[in-house]
Amino acid sequence: MSTGTAGTGEKRVATDEQHEPESALETARRQLEHAAAHLDVDPGVIERLKHPTTVHRVAVPLERDDGSVEVFTGYRAQHDDVRGPYKGGLRFHPEVSEEECVGLSMWMTWKCAVMDLPFGGGKGGVVVNPKELSTDEKERLTRRFAEELRKFVGPKKDIPAPDMGTDAQTMAWFMDAYSMQEGETIPGVVTGKPPVVGGSEGREEAPGRSVAIITREAARYYDFDLDGLTVAVQGYGSVGANAARLLDDWGADVVAVSDSGGAVHDPSGLDTHAIPSFAEQPNAVTEYGADADGADLLDEGNDILELDVDVLIPAAVGNVITVDNANEIRADIVVEGANGPTTFPADEILAERGVHVIPDILANAGGVTVSYFEWLQDINRRTWTLEQVQEELESEMLSAWDAVRGEVEDKDVTWRDAAYVVALDRIAEAKSVRGLWP
Ligand code: GLU
Repeated sequence: MSTGTAGTGEKRVATDEQHEPESALETARRQLEHAAAHLDVDPGVIERLKHPTTVHRVAVPLERDDGSVEVFTGYRAQHDDVRGPYKGGLRFHPEVSEEECVGLSMWMTWKCAVMDLPFGGGKGGVVVNPKELSTDEKERLTRRFAEELRKFVGPKKDIPAPDMGTDAQTMAWFMDAYSMQEGETIPGVVTGKPPVVGGSEGREEAPGRSVAIITREAARYYDFDLDGLTVAVQGYGSVGANAARLLDDWGADVVAVSDSGGAVHDPSGLDTHAIPSFAEQPNAVTEYGADADGADLLDEGNDILELDVDVLIPAAVGNVITVDNANEIRADIVVEGANGPTTFPADEILAERGVHVIPDILANAGGVTVSYFEWLQDINRRTWTLEQVQEELESEMLSAWDAVRGEVEDKDVTWRDAAYVVALDRIAEAKSVRGLWP
């Protein structure tokens, strides 16, 4: 069923009373309470889910290349493991904090449950700017962090993965440090590794692929033609670039993309393959994009988030859609590629204005889904082909989409509430059959 809503961008909502949450944790808790109101679950379960099981805080000393020693702080938040081992990324970023890790670990719990994966939620990181470290320093920092977390992680306990500031190489160092100390090669301790050491084909592009699949389904649902669908993508890293290129291949017009250096716009559609992603060449969007025929750079006052497009994909960092710009969003559909790009009050404004927000815990869940495929391959010591990975991912994303769509229609709620309902139902049932002990 469709409720086609082109042209929702006119309505404005008063923002005076809106309180902007300050952390991912506050946003995650408010989302949980909001969604719980639509569910008949034991309030004791909701109360338990507001708190992480454990947060590990570790000191990570690093010998810099000049011989000096600096001590960084690392965290691993383990939110809930009722459905299986904790699962989620590790960030290297100067703004990593305990609160942020806890909020992000809650989102991992829901994400894994929406996808019906046998995992719970975790997230961690080191408070560091990786751009200020040499490759050798990054390796030493990762190995020492792995050693500090060694007792708390493992293929059956807690399985880290890449996130902001970390990548396949980081995972290879982590896996090597862990394996050396355990005395055997244990590829299943982390996912997102290079394929040559137990990584999965298709893992790197998986979050972007799932964003593209969900965009396609959302466009169909709201009666937009994929052919000529206008899309703006904020962030040209792994998620944004892969989503943009796939949608471009499938006929959409990706009219604008941005990175931290700026944004490029072409109303007739950009050649997304010609623009290097962050991994291929950092901050190259403006340099390459502006050379393309018909493309213009967006000036500072003309934010990519506020373009009049069918679909907006925020795929950079968290908290970019806030009370300050929620009234300016002119897209009909927002598909969240980043984790937590929309603050709680901004989400309410968008809902009131009739802008459909497809949440991160569904849209970018392809990453952790292919992480699950990788973990299965590691445990079974048997690799899958790229075709197999893509086929299984497509089918898992469509099942999750159908489950969430079912709740949108049954309960007449937003896509975020519906995704939470799907996740919380599964988690609450698991908690209820396992019980509270001691
Ligand atoms: N960091 C990714 C996310 O936020 C992937 C997590 C994983 O694969 O465990 O979903």
